[in-house]
Amino acid sequence: MLIDSHCHLDFEDFEAERDAVVARARAAGVARMITISTRMERFSAISALAEAYDDVFCTVGVHPEYADEGAQATVAGLVELARHPKCVGIGETGLDYHYDRVPRAIAEVVFRTHIAAARQTGLPLVIHARDADADMAAILRDEMGKGPFKALLHCFTSSRMLAEAALSLGLSISFSGILTFKKSDELRDIARAVPMDRLLVETDAPFLAPVPHRGKRNEPAFVAETARALAEVKGVSPEKLAAETSANALRLFDKMPAPKQSGAEAA
Ligand SMILES: [Zn+2]
Ligand SMILES: [Zn+2]
Repeated sequence: MLIDSHCHLDFEDFEAERDAVVARARAAGVARMITISTRMERFSAISALAEAYDDVFCTVGVHPEYADEGAQATVAGLVELARHPKCVGIGETGLDYHYDRVPRAIAEVVFRTHIAAARQTGLPLVIHARDADADMAAILRDEMGKGPFKALLHCFTSSRMLAEAALSLGLSISFSGILTFKKSDELRDIARAVPMDRLLVETDAPFLAPVPHRGKRNEPAFVAETARALAEVKGVSPEKLAAETSANALRLFDKMPAPKQSGAEAA
């Protein structure tokens, strides 16, 4: 069993064949997919997908790239939408200094708003962090000091410093297809040092397809490739890695029910 802890099934890329994409994920052993919110306005479309497919769950939040446009996230607004029975997390939210399109002060306020909603709901925060290691670590430390919240650094590509800071604060870390890329030796070294009980896997589909699908549109079924690469990094069997990361995902996103063990799941 595998869990794709981060995908974007609402994106247009999947419009023409969403049923087939979900079917291929199931055939690959993906028992749960979490389709991640990027804008408040998209929540109705995202929650509709979670309603349409038993094994699809969702989150609510505003991606840092859109932090200064569209409907603004408020703590009350996030908390209200998060009451949806299939909404299992808050985000994705965070800091993205790679594109640096949104004024940093605004991005920080929006990020802290999401943290407050995660604290209030008890749902895990899905964090997007890119080229913002020092500020991310500082905000996480500051906010954790105000009161605990659960969180996941998704699609990890940051430094060892941020990984260590996040782990010391109790966060989990999720790896995407980037882990399979030839040049990702440093990332694999960081992954090797993450305790097994803090590791998750994801696709971030439609982006970042893992080898051997690199360059193509990504989809949840391909999370198996990332899990295989992570198993190799950790020196465990793909089956053990799949079982451990799935258990971790279910423990973190604990509003999401565990799938029934039917024995029908692909190995
Ligand atoms: Zn992201
Ligand atoms: Zn994403």
